[in-house]
This record gives sequence, structure tokens and C-alpha cells, in this order.
Amino acid sequence: MGSLLVVSAHAGDFVWRAAGAIALATSRGDRAKVLCLTYGERGESAKAWREGRTLEEIKELRRVEASAAAEVLGAEIEFLDAGDYPLLETPELVDRIARVYREVEPAVVLTHPTEDPYNQDHPAAARMALHARVLAQAAGYDAPGEPLGAPPVFFFEPHQPEQCGFRPDVLLDITPVFDAKRKAMECLPAQQHMWEYYTDLARRRGVQLRRNAGPNLGLPHTTMGEAYMRLYPQVTGTLS
Ligand SMILES: [Zn+2]
Repeated sequence: MGSLLVVSAHAGDFVWRAAGAIALATSRGDRAKVLCLTYGERGESAKAWREGRTLEEIKELRRVEASAAAEVLGAEIEFLDAGDYPLLETPELVDRIARVYREVEPAVVLTHPTEDPYNQDHPAAARMALHARVLAQAAGYDAPGEPLGAPPVFFFEPHQPEQCGFRPDVLLDITPVFDAKRKAMECLPAQQHMWEYYTDLARRRGVQLRRNAGPNLGLPHTTMGEAYMRLYPQVTGTLS
């Protein structure tokens, strides 16, 4: 189906919210690349700060953890080390992301929703991911590679979806790869409190997936799901 590009503000975000989609892509033999704009060293590493570690130690810790999670999922990972809390939007960072689009030529892009009143880094990452996509599409944009096509963009599920204007309009069946998602989550002991939370969420999204799929598909009670929201219209020749 082509490559998958995941733009993640912090080291753990891609695991909680999109590990199923990543594992599905790589299990099909598709390339998946995770672009982590930061390590989440200041905003999403509270346990390591409480343990008295230094900033550099925490960045290295999160790099090792996220790399292990990506490996479990069969994905490539690249860190831009742009600094979090706050993640600042700069033309240089947008350009670096645009160059990754040109190199990966993704068929599908996953990133954060553009609203999150609890975490300003997430919308900042989303805005830059969207801006870079548009730049990479321009024939005259000064970066190596061919102009990008129009890969669909899906927002992955934020931690508090209702406050982020997140309305699931895609429920992805991740049952065959859920074990890999759980293993990837367990690569992130710095955020161990999230493991059960996101296992429970996958179970609830699985229940909704079965309900929306209808009885004819006969999906099992053990179905696990991930929710996504499309940014751009679906393009199709038939309504289904
Ligand atoms: Zn985050």
C-alpha cells in the first residue's frame, strides 16, 4: 500500500496512539517511519525527573525506549531533538519535516489533532506536519526528491478526545497486531501508568468497531481497535 509516515511530538506518542496502525503496515511489508520531533524530555518524563536524572540522561533514556518500541513494531525512527515544553514552531523545523516527506513519499500520514488544550506541543507538531506536507507538494520547493502527491492525513486519538474536538470516523481493527502494540508500550517504563489505560482504550474501541461493522462480519469479542479522524475528504468512486 506504500509507506506510512507518523509525525509524533514526543517519544511515546506514536506508541499509545498509533502502534497498531504501524504494526499493521509493517506486517504487510510496507515501510513505516516514525518522526519524533522531540524526546518528550521535559513534558512527558515526570518519573525520570522525580528520580533526579539530568536532562541529557532523560533524553537518552527516552531515545533508547522509543527506539526499542519502534523496533518491536518493525518501524524506522528518527529524532529531530527540537526540544519540548515548549516545542517551538520554526521554519527550519518545518523544512526538516518537509525533507522527510520528500524522502519517505508516504502513502498515509498520521499525526496529532490540531487542538489540545492540555498540551500545546501536540497541536504545534500537527501544524508543522501539515505545513511541511503542503511545502513538500510544491514543485518549486527547494528540497531533494520529487514533489509529494496528496497522502491522506489521519489524526490519531489524543488523551482526552472530547476536549480536542476528536470525533472518531475511522475505527481500525488492530486485533492481529495488538500483542506487538502491548510489547511496544512495555518498552516505555517511563510512562508505565499508560500501559493499562491504552489497553483498555483499545478494548473499548474494539467494542465500537464490532458494533459499527455489524453482525455479518462476525468479529470476535476480543477485537481491539484504534480510532482515527480524517482531515481531508475520502476520495472514492463508490460509497461504501
Ligand atoms: Zn506527547
